[in-house]
Amino acid sequence: MRRKARVVKLNRNAELDAAESRQQRWSAADEATFQRTDRSPQRASKGIAVNSFPRSAWERKVVLLGNNFATSATQSVEDLCSHAERGNKVHTQRSCLRRELRSGFALKRGSVSKGVFTTDIRGKMILLGTGTSVGVPMVGCGCPVCLSDNPRNKRTRCSAILGLPQGNLLIDTSPDVREQLLRERVGIVHAVLYTHEHADHVFGLDDLRMMQFYLGGPVPLYCEPSVENRIRKSFDYAFSEEAKTHAGATPQLAFHRIGLEPFEVLGQRVTPIRMRHGRRFEVLGFRFGNVAYCTDTNSIPPESMEKLTGLDVLILDALRPRGHATHFSLEEAVKIAERLQPRQTYFTHMSHELEHEATNAALPPNMKLAFDGMRIELT
Ligand SMILES: [Zn+2]
Ligand SMILES: [Zn+2]
Ligand SMILES: [Zn+2]
Repeated sequence: MRRKARVVKLNRNAELDAAESRQQRWSAADEATFQRTDRSPQRASKGIAVNSFPRSAWERKVVLLGNNFATSATQSVEDLCSHAERGNKVHTQRSCLRRELRSGFALKRGSVSKGVFTTDIRGKMILLGTGTSVGVPMVGCGCPVCLSDNPRNKRTRCSAILGLPQGNLLIDTSPDVREQLLRERVGIVHAVLYTHEHADHVFGLDDLRMMQFYLGGPVPLYCEPSVENRIRKSFDYAFSEEAKTHAGATPQLAFHRIGLEPFEVLGQRVTPIRMRHGRRFEVLGFRFGNVAYCTDTNSIPPESMEKLTGLDVLILDALRPRGHATHFSLEEAVKIAERLQPRQTYFTHMSHELEHEATNAALPPNMKLAFDGMRIELT
C-alpha cells in the first residue's frame, strides 16, 4: 500500500508540476523503498511518474511521463532507470515536447506520436556502426578478432547519428540500423543523410517505417541522384501506386537532392565533400562545423582535402592493414590524417583484420580506432 502512495498519475501539466514539487521533498528512506520495488512495464502503463528522487544517482534524470509509453516502447522502467544511472538523460516524446515547446524546438504540437521513448543526444554524434560491409564478427570466420569477447571488436555496419538543434540526423541506413537505434535508445530520426548507395549503407531503410508516425509525415532523405535511384529500385514497393493495405505498410519517404553545395538541415550547416571510392565510384563525406565524417573512400581529391582543414575530429575510412581497391588501408588513412592534422582522428569501416587494442596501441596518440557507440562532441 505504501508503494501505491508513491504512484502519481499524470494527465495534465499542472499535475505534473505538483508531482515534481512533491517528489522533491521525498526523503532518502522513501527513495530506498522505491528502489526495492518492482518497476515493471505494466505499472508504467498504468501511469507512473518517476522523477527527481533527491540524492539518487538519477536525480532529475528520469522523467517518465504519459500513460502509454510502455506499451509502445521496448524498454521496461527498469531499463530506463539503469540507463539514467549511467548518466544518460531519459525522456518520453511527450516530456520532450513540453520542454521543447518552451525552448522553441522544432517539433510541432500534433506531429508527435504518443509514447515515443528517446534519448536527448543534442550536441553529439554517435558512431552507430564502425564495421565493414559484412560486419565483425564475420559469418563463418574463426579468427581471433571474430571470436574475441572484447565488445570493441564487435562492429555493426557503418552509420552515425547527430543530435542537431532541430532533431536527429541519421547518416546512412545500415542493415543494422534497428539494433543500433535500440542499443543507443534513440527513438526518433528526423532526417537521413546518405554517403552513397552501397547495400551496407542503404538496406536498413525499411526499419524506419515507424518514423513517419512519429514525425507526422514522410521521412526526409538527403542524397545524391544515384542514391535516390538505388532506393527507388530497391524499395520499389514504397513508391507503388497500388493502394496500401494499411498505414505503415510501406516507408513514406521524401527525397531532398544534394550536391556539393553546402546546405542546411535540422538547424545545422552541412558541407558535402566529394571523395572517391574505387576507380569508378564517387561518394560524399560531410563536414558539420569542425567535425567531419568520411567513410568509404580510398582517395580524397585536393579540392576536398582543402575543405577538411582545421578539424577538431575527423572520422575516416580505414579498412585493414593491407591495401584495398575501394577503401583506405590503415597506413593510408594515417597518412591522410597526418596531412590534415585534425586534433583527433577516429578510424571506421574496419574489417576483422584490425584488433582493437593491439591496433590502438600502435597508433599515434591522436589517432584511434572508433568503436560502436562512441560519442563525439559536435564543435
Ligand atoms: Zn560501406
Ligand atoms: Zn574473422
Ligand atoms: Zn561503399
